[in-house]
Amino acid sequence: MASTVGFIGLGNMGGPMARNLARAGLEVLAYDRRREAVYKLAADGGVTASRSIGDVARATQTLVTMLPDNEHVLSVLLKGEDAAAKALAPGSLVIDMSTISPVVARDLHTRLGERGIAFVDAPVSGGTIGADKGTLTIMAGGDDQAFERARPILEKMGTTVVHAGGPGMGQIFKLCNQVIVVGNLTAIAEALTLCRAGGGDANELLAALGGGAADSWMLQNLAPRMVAGDDGFGFPIDLQLKDLRLVGEVAHALDVPLPSTSLITALYLAARAQGGAREGNQTIYKVLAKLADQPPNP
Ligand code: NAD
Repeated sequence: MASTVGFIGLGNMGGPMARNLARAGLEVLAYDRRREAVYKLAADGGVTASRSIGDVARATQTLVTMLPDNEHVLSVLLKGEDAAAKALAPGSLVIDMSTISPVVARDLHTRLGERGIAFVDAPVSGGTIGADKGTLTIMAGGDDQAFERARPILEKMGTTVVHAGGPGMGQIFKLCNQVIVVGNLTAIAEALTLCRAGGGDANELLAALGGGAADSWMLQNLAPRMVAGDDGFGFPIDLQLKDLRLVGEVAHALDVPLPSTSLITALYLAARAQGGAREGNQTIYKVLAKLADQPPNP
């Protein structure tokens, strides 16, 4: 396995993921357009600071990216002035762990493949806690050979690493994950407003439901934050809306009606319109509370 890995995109997820690769003994060459993120991780995360995408790509045959959306990944890998594809040697491997369009992921697989560069799309679930602890669920798409090259690197960042299928299939699995996440969160928010309207205690409700048929990761981790009115933590509404946009595009392209996800997308748009763009997912509770004419915190 490669002992030197390039890592581009050191944000809330990429920073701790790159640090975990370094802790596992790899030499990590790290770059982000925010210089302060690079210096911080070099100072306390054990990575080596790089000055540009090209510098990273010239010095490694294995490159990981963790960036916000389609245009960032396309720019870093293929289209930007300093794009990685121009500097990576044939035979290199690119693992993109961002959540992006499956169509863009397949296109990258083809276009990098024309340069002899293997590509794996490997989006993640588990949030910043999973990134920090190295317990992410990683859903990878790509051909068998590329996946087997990527696997030992992915296993240093996650505890569940699945080969979802061919190119783009990691992204399809991730979008399915998001359909369930927003459905579950919205159902919890609705239950809390119903409980309050009926005169119930929200904390008692959560204690009663934990361990039963309605239990879930969301109920355990985000419902208490809804009740506490703590919206500062977690996956921001802006990124969730990006994922819902991707879900909608795929559903249209495949002619799959997703009636509840379409409605829930409107509720997430309301959360952003009401000022929640940078707040965590659980802020959807405030939208439901407003519809029920209840004050924002239970
Ligand atoms: P973030 O905004 O915190 O980090 C993105 C980083 O990419 C930033 O540091 C930014 O400076 C850097 N960047 C953007 N364009 C760049 C460029 N051209 N060159 C170099 N660096 C560039 O985002 P995040 O929360 O780390 O999320 C990253 C991806 O992971 C997204 O696709 C997101 O949907 C996905 N994801 C996030 C979470 C979460 O809880 N935050 C959970 C699962 C999946």
